[in-house]
Amino acid sequence: MTSSPTWPKRSKEPAVRTRFATRLLHTGHETDPATGAAAVPIYQVSMFDQPGLDQPGEFDYARSGNPTRKALEGVLAELDEAHAAFAFGSGMAAISTVLMLFSAGDHLVVTDDCYGGTYRVLTRVFSRFGLKATFVDTSDPEAVRAAIRPNTKALLVESVSNPFLKRTDILAMSILARTCGALLIVDNTFLSPYVSRPLTEGADIVVHSATKYLGGHSDVVAGTVAVKTAALAQEVYFLQNAVGAVLGPQDCFLLQRGIKTLGVRMERQVRTAAGLARWLADRPEVKEVFYPGAGAVVSFRLARDEWAAPFVETLQLPLLGVSLGAVESIVTVPARHSHASVPAPERQRRGITDGLIRYSVGLEDLEDLQEDLALALGQAVRVAA
Ligand SMILES: *Cc1c(COP(=O)(O)O)cnc(C)c1O
Repeated sequence: MTSSPTWPKRSKEPAVRTRFATRLLHTGHETDPATGAAAVPIYQVSMFDQPGLDQPGEFDYARSGNPTRKALEGVLAELDEAHAAFAFGSGMAAISTVLMLFSAGDHLVVTDDCYGGTYRVLTRVFSRFGLKATFVDTSDPEAVRAAIRPNTKALLVESVSNPFLKRTDILAMSILARTCGALLIVDNTFLSPYVSRPLTEGADIVVHSATKYLGGHSDVVAGTVAVKTAALAQEVYFLQNAVGAVLGPQDCFLLQRGIKTLGVRMERQVRTAAGLARWLADRPEVKEVFYPGAGAVVSFRLARDEWAAPFVETLQLPLLGVSLGAVESIVTVPARHSHASVPAPERQRRGITDGLIRYSVGLEDLEDLQEDLALALGQAVRVAA
């Protein structure tokens, strides 16, 4: 009888996987350790038969651990240069679980134009449990410093804000966090680990809505948390298992598949976005363009608010709706979509006018996107005349 081979049969130590594009494919977690299969299978199970009463196996119950999720989490940790990473059922599940690190009476300083779901969960859910939050412009370190209180336990910042795409200086935030003994938590959804890895700039925790660039194909809702230290890994693992906010094996598989092309997708999408931002800046129908010089989302303000509806409804190529970071371009009207729940006077104060457009650039040809935009701008001017 021949003995069955065991995997991994060769060393997967990281001698030559130090560069990002290579790391996307060769993390040591890309093949199935049980069989050597080229993709980690979908372990569609809820429980695992144990070797013996006093001999627990590596996995017991799938909320606590699943091989498909474990493989994905290994990849996620590599990408963010983290001690460990965790896959959640959505970006909001990831953020909410991180917020459970804190207790009643604790205070957070948070990016003021943060993701609407983050604002909602802080002001309508965690506020009921005594967690306090002050919202400030975190692209201004002085504003953050002024908002810090003796009970401030964390700075929760978005690396790029929405819809104006203002960058927050992660290094400056990490220095502020360190001086007041607070954690620095970064929502890096808009940039992805391809553009920046905040743990290497002093952040303690990074969260992503993996629904966006990591998944990249508009086919999975997921979230991730990556942490710098073993102590934080233990706490986040405890909370994830306690609360149960895990990602199912099918979605883990899809996410791991999507991540393999993150590098080529981002490289192309960032280049097209930069081209589109320059092109938009030259259009007479466009009053202002917001592009942070990184990432693949461009926001712009039409010269007249009433152009927004005919403009987005004439566009043929982008999907119309609320997401971003996909292979298809997606156009969003923040006043009507992502920020519709912000009261109109507050929207006005923040500059989120009805003519503000957010455009997540996909993998289409730049020239086709430009022609589509040119036609829609012309039609908007004609209809509103
Ligand atoms: C989409 C998004 C989230 C929420 O993620 P879900 O996967 O939709 O729950 C959080 N933060 C940012 C910046 C986002 O864009």
